[in-house]
Amino acid sequence: MQNLKDEYLEMLKTMRPAMSVEEDAWCEKFILPTIEMHGGFEDSFGNFMCEIGDNPDKLFLAHTDTVHQIGGQQKLLIDDQYSVVSSTANCLGADDTTGIFILLQLLKSSNPPNGVYILMREEEIGCNGSEHCANTLCLDNITQAISFDRKGYNDIVTTQLGVRTASTQYALQYESLGMQSAVGSVTDSASFRFKVNECVNLSVGYFNQHTTNEYQDIDFMLELIDKLLEFDWDNLQVFKEPCEEIDWGYATNYGYNSNGYRSSVTYPPLKPKKTHKKIKVKTKAPVYQHTASKLEIFIRNRPRATNDFLEHMGFSLADIHEYLDDQNNKDFKL
Ligand SMILES: [Zn+2]
Repeated sequence: MQNLKDEYLEMLKTMRPAMSVEEDAWCEKFILPTIEMHGGFEDSFGNFMCEIGDNPDKLFLAHTDTVHQIGGQQKLLIDDQYSVVSSTANCLGADDTTGIFILLQLLKSSNPPNGVYILMREEEIGCNGSEHCANTLCLDNITQAISFDRKGYNDIVTTQLGVRTASTQYALQYESLGMQSAVGSVTDSASFRFKVNECVNLSVGYFNQHTTNEYQDIDFMLELIDKLLEFDWDNLQVFKEPCEEIDWGYATNYGYNSNGYRSSVTYPPLKPKKTHKKIKVKTKAPVYQHTASKLEIFIRNRPRATNDFLEHMGFSLADIHEYLDDQNNKDFKL
């Protein structure tokens, strides 16, 4: 038990804003060995994933980045009972070090629950890692996406982004974990809402996330890990279809009609209901089709920084045109 606490505290020490070098080094040290032990890999976006069981129907999710202002080491404040931890930095980063730690402990156990485990990048700056997965991953027969990234002790979040991402009936099955249906804002599981039936987020025992008062109840987290290992994951039932994508159509002009007056009807038209097709493909088949390099992804996410760098190096738009024309490749003509 003490070993586990020490291991957790060791992980918490590193402040890891999204795309920082500290985050990369931390992932390589704490995540990669366990993922590789299960035949998993780091995808082109930097997400880590591995699969347990044949044709699993669940995604287990947590995120690697924290909302620290800078990367580096932080000083932890631990209570006398060695059960609550906080930090002197702008936050603790239990959001979502705790979720990552939980998934790693499940994977290190003798009998990890069946599922596709994905340790996501860039949740805090827009769920970019999970959006990438939702767009590129063959979702096989996945019917449930379960994030471990919720404050408090008792929540199973079933509403994210103002929409139902999971049914109440589904949430009821988590009663033995002490979880009750709750409304949340957004985390990685929401990225799968158009493709996966039930998308939830479970409490992991941190509080006041994203603030200087953030703290983690370590004992709660350790008890939760034990309960998760006992939990009957394989017999969970799903009760709803994935969310419908909404076609905002002409209503995207912020609710104003063509005369410039605010329309009395501001609800967007719904697309006719599509029957949701579950494609059964072996996940062992190529999981990823995406080939974007880390540089390309960086440029996409940080266009202004890339612009500054190119200007600093003395490159202009004309230089880029010239280079691309020289390549004599129609595909690259601007
Ligand atoms: Zn989080």
